[in-house]
Amino acid sequence: MADKMLRIVTKDGTVRGVAAETTELVEQCRRRQGCDPTATVALGRLATAAALMGALLKDDQRLALIVEGNGPLRKINAETDAGGRVRASVKNPLSEIPPTAGGFDVAAAVGRAGFLRVVKDLGMKEPYRSMVQLQTSEIGEDLAYYLSASEQIPSSVALGVYLEQDATVGCAGGFLVQAMPPGNEADIAALESTLLNMPAPTDLLRQGLGPREILGRIFADRPCEVVAETQPRFACRCSRRQVTAVLRSLDRDELAGLTEDGEAQVTCEFCGEVYSFSGEELESFRS
Ligand code: ZN
Repeated sequence: MADKMLRIVTKDGTVRGVAAETTELVEQCRRRQGCDPTATVALGRLATAAALMGALLKDDQRLALIVEGNGPLRKINAETDAGGRVRASVKNPLSEIPPTAGGFDVAAAVGRAGFLRVVKDLGMKEPYRSMVQLQTSEIGEDLAYYLSASEQIPSSVALGVYLEQDATVGCAGGFLVQAMPPGNEADIAALESTLLNMPAPTDLLRQGLGPREILGRIFADRPCEVVAETQPRFACRCSRRQVTAVLRSLDRDELAGLTEDGEAQVTCEFCGEVYSFSGEELESFRS
């Protein structure tokens, strides 16, 4: 079944929410990266976070979330656009952090110290860049902290990945709720208490609830309207042309470092596609 994502706003415009089911997307990321279970959960949370953030973009705007910590995963990267196309990669997909009784120790895999970096390409000359220190290294709380502290929008983020016995992704998804300025304090307090009592996204998904029903439960009887409905999905932007441009920009020594038996192979870090270049092609890049 295809993944789904829904974005709504209250009729008075004070609160907006996005919910997504990202099961298929996260399974694709897991397979392409070759993740172990704890790495799958970490990567899946960040890919889901990117999808949710992407729902707030317009037209050809793009966004990247990068988590860099002192844990075994080292660096996780998830990118998206306004159309729900997401790709994600992890530097070291084998965290070797065993599952715990309560689930997966994502914070240990990410590392307790590190940064969440956000890069937004809003179509301006320079992309917008921001960075916050990791708060809990659980990813959802770190993104909520970034949104509240850096973007000054009080936000609540929940992300979840549920794995089957065979370590494939059983379900994944999440939601993001934001109080838009100026906001009404009583309103926000009521919403906060609802969010506090919400089950985890994976529990809701496993009960058969979709993004629409999840938002229905959060927003209860507030009048809302649907702003957008999209399908988050794995999609990579890499191309032979783009890889060629990178190779052309390398100096002689760097190019030689990539070359083996006169040929070069470049593997996309996101989708795993392999681009091969012959000796003749490489020679033409040097000129
Ligand atoms: Zn690719």
